Amino acid sequence: MTHANATPEGRGYEATGPEKFVRPEILAIQAYHVGDSAGMVKLDAMENPFPLPDALRRELGDVLSRVDLNRYPDPTGTALRAKLRGVMQVPEGMDILLGNGSDDLIQIMTVALARPGATLMYPSPNFIMYSMDAVFSGMKAVGVPVREDFSLDLPRFLDAIREHRPALVFIAYPNNPTGALYAEEDIVEVIRACEGLVVLDEAYHVFARRSFMSRLPEFPNLAVLRTVSKLGLAGMRLGYMAAHPGWIAQFNKVRQAYNVNSLTQAAALFLLDRLDVLEAQAESLRIERDRLAREIALLPGITVYPSEANFLLVRVPDADRVFEALKERRVLVRSVNAGLTRNCIRITIGSPDENRILMDALSAALGSI
Ligand SMILES: *Cc1c(COP(=O)(O)O)cnc(C)c1O
Repeated sequence: MTHANATPEGRGYEATGPEKFVRPEILAIQAYHVGDSAGMVKLDAMENPFPLPDALRRELGDVLSRVDLNRYPDPTGTALRAKLRGVMQVPEGMDILLGNGSDDLIQIMTVALARPGATLMYPSPNFIMYSMDAVFSGMKAVGVPVREDFSLDLPRFLDAIREHRPALVFIAYPNNPTGALYAEEDIVEVIRACEGLVVLDEAYHVFARRSFMSRLPEFPNLAVLRTVSKLGLAGMRLGYMAAHPGWIAQFNKVRQAYNVNSLTQAAALFLLDRLDVLEAQAESLRIERDRLAREIALLPGITVYPSEANFLLVRVPDADRVFEALKERRVLVRSVNAGLTRNCIRITIGSPDENRILMDALSAALGSI
């Protein structure tokens, strides 16, 4: 694909079809990449490796069989929002908005806040969707580099807030792909310094066990964004956000009328009453993470960064070659070999069996390059 097509003017070249009509900034980006994982040990997408127990699957099947698929879903998910409010301890006075995954909610917020010239800011590196949604919505994106150790560079971030006056700030807490959990006092300073909306993306809250949910009432410009994906329900596509009612009322206008389908609503209502199963899985993944981190750190030439999520960021001598060598051994991880995470791979914590396969493959890969 040639990006010359994006700006054909003055080249004596007549664009036709999509290149003539699609926005140049869309022509210029790549689609979100999901690696082919058939037959692989899949450690690239922060999925929970454990399936639901058989008995629970059968009960869930029964629940889903009673959903009236001939009817549209409840547009705002009334029962599900009430359930989440209790289970996730959303403070009194805050409202909740549901999304088709948290990706949906990120897009809704950027669309609502994309006044002409408005800025979206985030610490960098981070979750790729923030900058993609900035492109889709037409917001100006400003990434502020974190420090070499992946901690938040607070003075630099505060300077950038004063300079760019962002309408929207996304902070993944803890961050993807680094696993770093920024200091709570630093986050508070960012919220206080920013006039626009600060969104804490708590996709990994079950692993970090830290949250700003209970502090929402203190800050009129704070939103907490969550997903059930990393908890073990990635296929269900359910995200939710909590914030002061004024923000939720505006974002509610932007979402698709039926953005969370009936099967998702029914499954979530059922599973949120049985959260102990998923939380026990998360607990065992946390233990595996810490064990695996110690084991990987013993390999020669490797740095393992502290992680509060269900993945490890690992610096190796040559990330591209290690990625390929792992792939040859049927282990799929994510290469994040660029910028501050140069020569890094991101490894999702799998089941104990998968982690053993990973360790063997990684030792062999490092020996072979
Ligand atoms: C995985 C991830 C998401 C995406 O969550 P979905 O609900 O599956 O769309 C959002 N934010 C961060 C930081 C993530 O790592």
